[in-house]
Amino acid sequence: MKYENTKEFAKKLDKQDELADYRKQFHFPKIKGKKQIYFCGNSLGLQPKSVKKAVNDELDAWAELGVEGHFKKNFDWFGYHHYLTAMTARLVGAKNKEVVVMNNLTTNLHLMMVSFYRPTKTRFKILMEYNPFPSDRYALESQIRFHGFDPATALIELKPKKGKNNLYTDDIVSTINEHGDSLELVMMGGVNFYTGQAFEMDKIAEAAHRVGALAGFDLAHAAGNLHLQLNKWNVDFAVWCTYKYLNSGPGGTSGVYINEKHVTDKTIPRFEGWWGNNEKTRFLMQKNFDPTPTAEAWQLSNAQILPMAAHRASLEIFDKAGIKNLRKKSVLLTGYLEYLLNDLAISDISILTPKHPDHRGCQLSIVAKKQGKKLHSYLTKNHIIADWREPDVIRVAPVPLYNSFADVWELANCIGKFYNS
Ligand SMILES: *Cc1c(COP(=O)(O)O)cnc(C)c1O
Repeated sequence: MKYENTKEFAKKLDKQDELADYRKQFHFPKIKGKKQIYFCGNSLGLQPKSVKKAVNDELDAWAELGVEGHFKKNFDWFGYHHYLTAMTARLVGAKNKEVVVMNNLTTNLHLMMVSFYRPTKTRFKILMEYNPFPSDRYALESQIRFHGFDPATALIELKPKKGKNNLYTDDIVSTINEHGDSLELVMMGGVNFYTGQAFEMDKIAEAAHRVGALAGFDLAHAAGNLHLQLNKWNVDFAVWCTYKYLNSGPGGTSGVYINEKHVTDKTIPRFEGWWGNNEKTRFLMQKNFDPTPTAEAWQLSNAQILPMAAHRASLEIFDKAGIKNLRKKSVLLTGYLEYLLNDLAISDISILTPKHPDHRGCQLSIVAKKQGKKLHSYLTKNHIIADWREPDVIRVAPVPLYNSFADVWELANCIGKFYNS
């Protein structure tokens, strides 16, 4: 598309946008009565207006029915997680039996490591992305130590080429080949939280499999952002949180994907709890664990109804809008922001995120070397919420569900004003 740097042009794009009305389904924060322009969906997604009713319905049911709520007619608590399954599977490109919603992200990452990181004396290494989210690093290092290995030799961190900000798939593949049969697991983000780089998960999984390793992904910044096809890409497992792009509330529940080839594999160890036991025999309270023949076998505890109710309401919006359509708009929307920033031609500003839409999600990480912190405060003062990361990065995530082309124009305009005033 040929973009133009005018407010009128931005408004024209909004008029043509078939998803524009979804914005009305969200609450926008107001500070001192002033509606904010929000670019922090990569950190905490906005609240869908439908969430309140979904959560209140469960609170009411609890008040009115007590324990009987487990078997109520609509959205029984006993099977509550089932109501999330099909929508989740469609969102991440999986089969129903490959997904389950449970717990929190880092907890689920550890549960997946129990099953899919089983190092031996000769094959014990984990390959991770450059500068991963700290929780992922802590999880991987503690798993390595738990198995009696040393992160200094067992944890391989990919590094960008000198002078580059991002990783090339060819380099990732050659690092995988280099470690070959000492590599047990490739565990990366789907989209790096800091640079916004999206990794080619299909090629990475294929390369991992070629050397006999597995490939898992943390999709915290990819779920609800990219058009994922986890089954087709032959990813072994994935985990994600639901409070970022998936708008399901602070500390919300988490999603898990386990490839169908692993789901009923009896040789794979797993930490187990009663909610992973087959529903038919669960309440017989028997001795022997009888695993559900799906990813649900990994469930430990009974479903967290309140966060899951919020998540259900949010997933319904994604299901209706369709992740493919959202992604299509997202490419245009982020492309527009990139165009506007380049058009400003401000020497203090550059973009850390890859240029090619296939190598990023909606986020752009803006580097403002000299005046970053001041620029961030200026945006805040002008009712634009963006995210500051030391030492010099402002992360902005134009989200296709609730950000408009006019929002993006306002952001670029504000940045221009800051440098030109
Ligand atoms: C946000 C994020 C987390 C946060 O983990 P929680 O367990 O949800 O607190 C972990 N990893 C990545 C990659 C993230 O982006």
